[in-house]
Amino acid sequence: MKEIKMMPVGLFFLIPVIFAASCGGKPVNIPERDRNRARERMVRQLLRYGINDERVIAAMSTVPRHLFIPEKYRDTFDPYGDYPGPIGSGQTISQPYIVAYMTERLDVKPGEKILEIGTGSGYQAAVLAALGADVYTIEIIPELAEHARRVLAEQGYRKVQVRAGDGYKGWPERSPFDEIIVTCAPEEIPRALIEQLRDGGRMILPLGARFQRLVICRKEGGEVRIEDDLPVRFVPMVHGREVK
Ligand code: SAH
Repeated sequence: MKEIKMMPVGLFFLIPVIFAASCGGKPVNIPERDRNRARERMVRQLLRYGINDERVIAAMSTVPRHLFIPEKYRDTFDPYGDYPGPIGSGQTISQPYIVAYMTERLDVKPGEKILEIGTGSGYQAAVLAALGADVYTIEIIPELAEHARRVLAEQGYRKVQVRAGDGYKGWPERSPFDEIIVTCAPEEIPRALIEQLRDGGRMILPLGARFQRLVICRKEGGEVRIEDDLPVRFVPMVHGREVK
């Protein structure tokens, strides 16, 4: 069994995380009827942290985050607290703030075609679909891909397609993509993903090993411009052969 290693928490997010952990680290077991209120609380916190794209806020107000956490883990932490949590196979669901932040930076428009690498729970994919995007998402751990596929189907997110496979290869048959979001950290920008980005498109990814930064790539006229953003901490983007 792998340990739960990297948490997608940037240095910037440590204060809210420490605060949240100090008041909500124990199992909470929120009754189903209180989930909506918990979600509203999460969204109010996102607004306080500076997320101000109304469409992102609206999307995150609707997606039932708790249902994307496998039942076994759902009540071991507050699914609507601003921290990551376990989803099995040693992986985590990203904390709400980082989901909101990356989604806001991607500036997704309805009808756009998005590739996500690192499906995990399926939550980020659902948020993108709630914004009206067509989402193609790849997860290297087959059990997680299966979990995400099932929850997304049950919750009626028909615009998401999940593939179990190696994200380094991208999804060439469906390319080019308007935007690409990577939610695990490679050490170098994967070439295939740049190739599968349409001209004028954007990709956001955490880059690095021990020290990671979010990076935004813009492809224009065949050139790629790279902008550094926040320091973050994500699970590594593994190569196929490293999977146990
Ligand atoms: N977006 C997710 C969080 C994902 S955590 C959510 O909303 O819950 C990162 C995920 O990336 C993990 O599930 C991990 O298994 C996956 N991953 C790591 N390397 C990968 C690769 N090469 N291709 C596809 N997925 C990968």
